[in-house]
Parts: sequence; structure tokens; C-alpha cells
Amino acid sequence: MSIKDNILYFDKQLKNTPCRLVAVSKTHPVEVIKEAYDAGHRIFGENKVQELVDKYALLPHDIAWHLIGHLQTNKVKYIAEFIDTIESVDSLKLLKEINKRAEMVNRTLPINCLLQISIADEETKFGMSYEEAVALLQSEDYRNMSYIRITGVMGIATNTEDEGKLRQEFRYLRECFHNLKETFFFANDDFREISMGMTSDWKLALEEGSTMIRVGSGIFGSRNYDK
Ligand SMILES: *Cc1c(COP(=O)(O)O)cnc(C)c1O
Repeated sequence: MSIKDNILYFDKQLKNTPCRLVAVSKTHPVEVIKEAYDAGHRIFGENKVQELVDKYALLPHDIAWHLIGHLQTNKVKYIAEFIDTIESVDSLKLLKEINKRAEMVNRTLPINCLLQISIADEETKFGMSYEEAVALLQSEDYRNMSYIRITGVMGIATNTEDEGKLRQEFRYLRECFHNLKETFFFANDDFREISMGMTSDWKLALEEGSTMIRVGSGIFGSRNYDK
């Protein structure tokens, strides 16, 4: 199947659902991203700042770029001007820097941020505990931020084929979302995203309430990291 076919396939699968597709284009060249763009797709995800900055410069500017990988505080400045959503906010310190840099470049729209919650048991995966997310939202610092908007939560499930385990992790993230929604975002429509599900598990994630699936190889084919 061509990239265009893949985009149309996901359009069809997600039609009449509240879920949207983030096409994860990391490691793939801009020509390939352009194919998805020409098929009508506008939301793309990258996990490395430098790669994202390079691609941003070469592609149409109506793309909504999502940063989905761990973000170091000292790199926020490179993307503050154009990033649509940072899905991987995992500390108050990082959120403060995002807010500061967005203010410095005079953003007209706030930067959308998702709180990354660790839901897998692999320790290598970044993310906050639910309690850390609560502490962040209770902080004085957060209340004073006007250049960011927290639009939901994100999680990366364990890399496993165990459907029961995956469902359990997705359900946990959904539960975190609902608890945070009730406590901090009641009647605030900005907080509405549950970003979960990738190529191997997006169908399960969708069934468990995902509003944003992040699919890479399922659209662009396998990644070659040696290039
Ligand atoms: C690479 C990546 C994806 C996409 O992975 P695929 O298995 O290729 O769909 C999704 N989310 C994050 C955070 C990633 O780093």
C-alpha cells in the first residue's frame, strides 16, 4: 500500500470516532512526509528536536507538529515558535520553560501540552506518575502560565503482545485523564485528549478511549536508524 493509501485507510478507520491520527514521521525524509501531506494529512509527530526543526523549515507551515519524544529543557527554544503540541511534558520545570519560551517569541496561540504519564513497567520510558501530574497542576507556577494550555494526557504502553496488559495500561491512562479532568479541568473543554496507541496496538487503544493515536511504521513503513 502507498503512503496515500495508508492515510486514507486511517481516515476511514477513524471516521465517526473522536480519535485523530498523528502520523509519526521520525527518520523518514520530507519527500515521504509530503506524500502524506498531499493525501490531506496535517498532523505529524517527531521525537527529536533537530530533526523536527529541519523538517519544519522544508515543509508547508500549515502542518500541526507534535513533539512526541523526551524534550530537554535547553532545547525548548528551538521549537517554541512553531510547535503545535508537546505531547511529552514530564516535569514542572519543563512546562515552565515551555511557557517562558512561548512568551519570549510572543506566541499568539498557546502551546498545547500533554502530560506524559508513565503507564508501562519499563523503566526506560519517560513520564510522570499520576501523583506528580497532580502536584504539577496544583502548583502556583502552573497557575501563572498563560502561554501554554494543557490539553490532555499521553502514555506509551509496554511493548508487548499481551492484549490484557495493554488494555490495563490504556484503561489506567484513561482513568488518570478522567480524574484530572474532574479535579482540575471540570467544564474546561481544552482538556480532552488521551494520546495512546501506536502501529501495533492502536485498535485496542481506540477501543479503550484514545483520542489520538500515534502511528509511524503503519503509515511510512519500517524505520532505518542506520541511515
Ligand atoms: C515512534 C513512536 C511512535 C510510533 O511508533 P510505531 O510503532 O512506528 O507506530 C509512537 N509514539 C511514540 C512516543 C514514538 O516514539
